[in-house]
Amino acid sequence: MNGPVVIAGAGPAGSLLAIYLARQGHDVTVYESRPDLRRTDIGAGRSINLALATRGIVPLVDVGVIDRVNEITIPMRGRMVHAVGDPTPELQPYGIHEHEVIHSVSRAGLNAILLDAAEATGRVTIEFERRLEAVDFDRSLLRFHDSSTEPFGVVFGADGANSPIRQSIIAQGTCAFEPEMLDHDYKELTVPPGDDGTYLLDPYALHIWPRGEFMLIALANPGGDFTVTLFAPSETFDALTSAENIRSFFNQNFPEFAALVPDLAQQFVENPTGKLGTVRVTGWSYQNQAVLIGDAAHGIVPFHGQGMNAAMESVRVLDRHLRASPDNLTAAFAAYENERKPDTEAIADMAIGNYIEMRAGVIDPGYLAKRKLALELQRRHPAHLSPRYNMVMFSTMPYAEARERASRQGEIIEAAVADPSIDIDTLISGLPRLPDNDPLADPRALSTS
Ligand SMILES: Cc1cc2nc3c(=O)[nH]c(=O)nc-3n(C[C@H](O)[C@H](O)[C@H](O)COP(=O)(O)OP(=O)(O)OC[C@H]3O[C@@H](n4cnc5c(N)ncnc54)[C@H](O)[C@@H]3O)c2cc1C
Repeated sequence: MNGPVVIAGAGPAGSLLAIYLARQGHDVTVYESRPDLRRTDIGAGRSINLALATRGIVPLVDVGVIDRVNEITIPMRGRMVHAVGDPTPELQPYGIHEHEVIHSVSRAGLNAILLDAAEATGRVTIEFERRLEAVDFDRSLLRFHDSSTEPFGVVFGADGANSPIRQSIIAQGTCAFEPEMLDHDYKELTVPPGDDGTYLLDPYALHIWPRGEFMLIALANPGGDFTVTLFAPSETFDALTSAENIRSFFNQNFPEFAALVPDLAQQFVENPTGKLGTVRVTGWSYQNQAVLIGDAAHGIVPFHGQGMNAAMESVRVLDRHLRASPDNLTAAFAAYENERKPDTEAIADMAIGNYIEMRAGVIDPGYLAKRKLALELQRRHPAHLSPRYNMVMFSTMPYAEARERASRQGEIIEAAVADPSIDIDTLISGLPRLPDNDPLADPRALSTS
């Protein structure tokens, strides 16, 4: 790489990429607009925890930080579904294998581990509170919000869904961008720990209160509290303007949850409402000077718990292409996008589909019968069938392949449900074998210690 190697953004994609680039022998400068989260308290109501799954875990193993990450994760073995009027929630396990669990992890905690590891390479400098504004490709200069400039040779745009690096590539006429906003928003709330510091809900599950058009989900944090997110149509949020409205909405739709949160209305008013959308970009790079990574290239809605996992998987793919073509960045960037774009499109679509599954499907008897049959078929034909959720969350099979297989499996299962005389075992065993190189065993077994 000629000239300074720069990363815009020190989120999960940028900080992980910094480690990979340092391991390739590059000196890297990362410019991050926010203060150092290791030294600052991040605001409430901003996606405190995330679900980490196989595609994110594999790169963490790769760069040698999985042991530190393991210390701050909480395994979730299934969905705990809180149906209307049913005081006893039901656990729907994610899979039939022990490793088929997802992990609740603090966004800031994981990011801090990656920042520490990047700095520990001795090759990465992170400059916080430096907000990039635009790239001047002709003069190889980065322009910042405060009008300062810095030279660059290559810039990696890991600057999130509203990426200014992407804007600069678009200005060169080589990049097409279609934002797709969802007409549903989200708000985060907190269930506090009990008086004795214990969890008020089972911490080892992802809780869902599905209500058809909207839902609540909750993931445990290590301190005994839960981060809860309400996802609902924008007009639902618009109507929740007074403490009285808010309390009655929750008392009516989520009474057991409302009873756990004494300051619910206050939290609701004080915490921001977030927008959700999909970022579809074609033309992720500009010559040998810039390339997009993570949400800047492929931001998705959060309903499959895959945005960060996909971002980290993309970093690993980009690293592989950079190592394959170290002297031809233009070719490496093109190969990376060619490989990755069909997969990120596939997960973008599956993430939207999973919203309907979470807010309505998990209590629909038809859906539940099909899910049960899929798990049973997985038991009977482990080499040929894995449910879609499991291929996405617990494998590194390309997302596009997971979508294709899921669609074929779904057709067979639909047909068998409609006509029980169909010989489903023959049809399933006729499906192509699942890839052998999948980390079907827990990739955390690759732990560095
Ligand atoms: C409610 C919600 C829940 C989610 N849950 C999950 C989940 O369970 N699992 C999962 O895998 N994903 C989840 N996601 C998605 C996940 O948050 C993102 O996909 C992930 O953060 C993308 O990482 P990134 O590094 O590409 O971008 P970001 O995390 O957005 O990081 C971008 C970084 O760039 C910095 N930056 C921005 N602009 C500039 C600038 N101009 N100059 C310099 N720096 C800049 C930002 O400050 C930030 O640090 C969720 C998202 C939301 C909204």
